[in-house]
Amino acid sequence: MASDTSSWDSDRTETALAFLVDGDSEAGVAALVDRRVTVSVAEPANENCQHTLFTAVNLLARLHPVVGEIVVALPRDADRKVHVPGVDAGTVGESVAGLAALINSPVTVRRIEEPNAADTTLHLGSGATDETVSVGSDGWLAHVATDGTPTSFGRQVNPIGSYAAACLGVAEVFKAVLRETVGAENVRARMTPIESTEFSTYDYTVDRDDPANPELPGVVNLHNLNVIGVGAGGGALVQTLSALNAVTGTIRLVDSDEVSASNLNRYIWAYRRDVGSMKAEVGKQIMVDAHPALTFSVKAHPEPYIAFSDQVDSDALDLVVSAVDTVRARKQIQWDFPKTILDAATNQQGDYVVLRVAFGEGQCLACKHQGRQDGVTREMSVLSEQIGLDTETLVQMNTDNAAFTREQVERVAAFVDGDAEIAVPEPGERFSDWFRLHCGHIDLGGANMEVPVPFLPVTAGVLLAGEVIKQRHFPEAVVDNRFTHNMLGVPVEGMHRFTKPHPDCEVCGDPDTVKRHEEKWETSGKPAVINYINETYPANRSAEGQADVVAYLYGQNALPGTDPEIRTRQILENVPTATRTHIGNLVNEVELVEKHESQGGRSYIFHERKEERHYDEDLGPIVDEEIERLLEHVADDAEVRRFVAALLDIDVGDLETEEIVEAIRARFFAVEDEDERMELFDEITQEIEAADVDKEEYEYAPIGWRRSSNRYTLTKQAVNLYEGER
Ligand SMILES: [Zn+2]
Repeated sequence: MASDTSSWDSDRTETALAFLVDGDSEAGVAALVDRRVTVSVAEPANENCQHTLFTAVNLLARLHPVVGEIVVALPRDADRKVHVPGVDAGTVGESVAGLAALINSPVTVRRIEEPNAADTTLHLGSGATDETVSVGSDGWLAHVATDGTPTSFGRQVNPIGSYAAACLGVAEVFKAVLRETVGAENVRARMTPIESTEFSTYDYTVDRDDPANPELPGVVNLHNLNVIGVGAGGGALVQTLSALNAVTGTIRLVDSDEVSASNLNRYIWAYRRDVGSMKAEVGKQIMVDAHPALTFSVKAHPEPYIAFSDQVDSDALDLVVSAVDTVRARKQIQWDFPKTILDAATNQQGDYVVLRVAFGEGQCLACKHQGRQDGVTREMSVLSEQIGLDTETLVQMNTDNAAFTREQVERVAAFVDGDAEIAVPEPGERFSDWFRLHCGHIDLGGANMEVPVPFLPVTAGVLLAGEVIKQRHFPEAVVDNRFTHNMLGVPVEGMHRFTKPHPDCEVCGDPDTVKRHEEKWETSGKPAVINYINETYPANRSAEGQADVVAYLYGQNALPGTDPEIRTRQILENVPTATRTHIGNLVNEVELVEKHESQGGRSYIFHERKEERHYDEDLGPIVDEEIERLLEHVADDAEVRRFVAALLDIDVGDLETEEIVEAIRARFFAVEDEDERMELFDEITQEIEAADVDKEEYEYAPIGWRRSSNRYTLTKQAVNLYEGER
């Protein structure tokens, strides 16, 4: 399928490989090229599996020259249900071929029905054997195994989890290739196989028993998203967001460059045909092709950030993804005071970093650079003591990648005086070339050198896409404020950490600057709602809690004119500070929330077992009657008795039947709140229904009864306040 390879540029990949392999790097690199990777697809009809498949093929096809051939083992074809940019084929098998043709890399991609001999196998879904890399995903969770632990794809569709599964899986394939060809001992970085790891792209937890995994909203609202730098990471973010079912909002894509052939080895969103096109335009096309309704709300800005910044209303910089590659551009962005900045970086050691800047709380983009500069200075001062050139000179040489002068070489030679540990540089040798050898680093030095292995920046881009979704819809789970992971190792929860601002930061360390930032943004979001309530209704004492309710409704897309789905109970459960009074005030007094009454005009409880409708005040007696009925069952049947006692953590020891029944009754009636008692009853009876116990005549309706109550949406005014368009 690959034919014209003339414009595919793998030079950087080869350079990076040479630095990764110790000793005779030429022989090492020769050994690890042209591998055949089988991608074996066990669950082709599953949407998450399809997302993972297309992303994995996309990444592997760009890993030339390590990968020479991809064999997609697809025992049975299925209808394609997910979007693949530029591909309009109807089945999964045809789409793999279509994707490969568009990427058009030197890697051959072909399809077979049954897996056969391969150098390395990436298994997608259930039924993996040992010795293969196996991945699965469900919702936000990505599961990767190299130890034979079964992985599978769940039905909760979420491209963040499934794209991350592809990235982690391909990283394991890369590690396996390195181990099998040059040997782990010859790799200048510590490689740890992932064994079996379930990684949450939602909250960066690893291997939790009961990880949080909320469903995506039906429509993801991106509100005001600005992506500065449509490169390996920024473009991967755009592509991941394009894979969502439905998206609204305004998206601005800013990049003054065009796609070049040397980008293709890590830009999963760019095809061979895009070489020469502006990156911002290609990114826009990906988004609009997937979501034609966004034609007028996705804007391409093929210009430098500074030009964009001059013309955009600075209030539109709500959420900025900074995926630029220079420190100067990052500082420019920070000085425009976006409300929130998401930032990603990768390095040659195999790390990626995802950072969220909520100005005034943690590290800002300027601090981040300051910290790094400190690190370089520290490193150079250590080096200075070893070779006798002063720190300042070395910092400068490191920045400019300057060549050693004859005079400098003589000074170093005199200083080390025959110390065999330190290689004296040659006159004219570039600082980074010498430093790498000297310190055994695989660091390629120059700030502009991007990592050529695609899975690293793409993982960062995918995680940032998750952060963009969370910003609006799951604010409680945004990265706080930094997550870093070395992809030659395994993801670790402890690397999700809060980083404090640099005490001497010229931007966030200045109280006047912090004040300016606060003033700019208090005209929107929660501060704007709080101000409005306090100013307009001075007697209202709970502006803060009411603003939390508005923020929640906004996050849930409960906008005017939409079908209201949010109920009282849901608000009370999800907003810890909310009370019924707050909701009442918002509806009746400050009028930021509109109440849509349920049928019949009152809230009611539907008693499913009796098929009767009851009103609020009846709740207590109904629950209690049902509990008595359950207790009867418990008294009758020893097995159910033991089962319920175990569920409630009651130690039955040598208690008599009646004592056990009383203990269970006491446990129910210790719950004073009727709503909560109803929930406890529901929980227990659902367990009984699901369990393999004899229920005789005691059948429990699935949720016992359902409760329908008022539903809420925000008013237009609330939305304007929240979005700062008062
Ligand atoms: Zn700072």
